[in-house]
Amino acid sequence: MHHDQIGFNSKAVHAGIIDDPLGSAVTPIYQTSTFSFEDADHGARCFSGEEKGYIYTRIGNPTINDLEHAVAKLENGYGGIAVSSGMAAVNTVYMTYLGQGKHLVAHNALYGPSRAIIESIWVKFGIESTFVDATDPINVANAIRPNTSLIFLETPANPTIGITDLEAVVAIAKKHNIPVCVDNTFCSPYLQQPFDYGVSVVLHSMTKFINGHADIVAGMIVAKTKEHYDRLRPVMVNMGCNMDPHQAWLTRRGLKTLGIRIDRAQENAMKVAVFLENHPKVEWILYPGLTSHPQYELGKRQMKGPGAMISFGLHGGLEAGKRMMNSVQMALLAVSLGGIETLIQHPASMTHSKLSSEAKKIAGISDGLVRLSVGIEDIEDIIADLSQALDKV
Ligand SMILES: *Cc1c(COP(=O)(O)O)cnc(C)c1O
Repeated sequence: MHHDQIGFNSKAVHAGIIDDPLGSAVTPIYQTSTFSFEDADHGARCFSGEEKGYIYTRIGNPTINDLEHAVAKLENGYGGIAVSSGMAAVNTVYMTYLGQGKHLVAHNALYGPSRAIIESIWVKFGIESTFVDATDPINVANAIRPNTSLIFLETPANPTIGITDLEAVVAIAKKHNIPVCVDNTFCSPYLQQPFDYGVSVVLHSMTKFINGHADIVAGMIVAKTKEHYDRLRPVMVNMGCNMDPHQAWLTRRGLKTLGIRIDRAQENAMKVAVFLENHPKVEWILYPGLTSHPQYELGKRQMKGPGAMISFGLHGGLEAGKRMMNSVQMALLAVSLGGIETLIQHPASMTHSKLSSEAKKIAGISDGLVRLSVGIEDIEDIIADLSQALDKV
């Protein structure tokens, strides 16, 4: 059976490029920096691209290429470019599509560093930017300038769980011939495939759902077409933000169970969301699986499931949030998301504690906001833990 014809979970297990002569069931780790040539002519052919041979691990490595191939298949893209972290993926995309005098339009609730680096570093190179609430596509249309060269989105976005209509934004972008990049970390290709809506580039922090075991930091860029791939790949190679073979091997192992991990985490998240929605200490909750989510219908259309990320607000603000953080017993008090363990985070007292109240407001962070990444533990235990912690709020 050809890999293009098998289902998502079958691809997650089997899609790869390695046909190991010794018959190993799992892709071996090619822990090597360089590859020797048979002779000078062979070396010349590899360098000219006449022959597809391995040269040097920053340029390409079988273990890494195997992972790139698998993720590209799952996203239905042309090719994958593995990088050292999610932020390396973000910056490789910025480096490729932005430049002196160019303009970026991006969603205003991006992953914090994806926005911060534009405003603190890229601005030094003459790059202009406009951050808008892309959950209303008209804001994207209004922000476009003649020098706009990239639209960068995240949906659902962190921590507001706002959903952007990809089809609508792509229709706007196409009129101006501007590539759209989507950070698909929150959904993974299992729940959302942005290429279906005409997006040009997808990226992931594989640190989250794709690897899923909280033991790796890793990133991936997937290009829809050869043209975009050929623009992106040399930037990664020459910037040197390549992945390491061992990192690729662990990520490939995590990827195999992506579907069943998300199925379980999502089933748990739905039950947690219903529990929280009915809890007297909870003021509000945002979860795409609840009909109370303002974009419930769009989420249902665009995503194959509501995922495992929940934001909710506590009556009692900052102090209530801190008390809850200090009371959880099983959930880990930690940043990151998408792992098998339930993680809980209170941005106002943790990740965003240094921000002014104005800046917190812009980022959509109220004092009582709690972010939960629901894991695959037994649902009774997750709810019992949250319940006893909420009793102490
Ligand atoms: C974590 C994260 C990133 C950054 O990824 P790293 O692997 O930590 O560099 C980017 N985007 C989103 C949505 C994330 O959650």
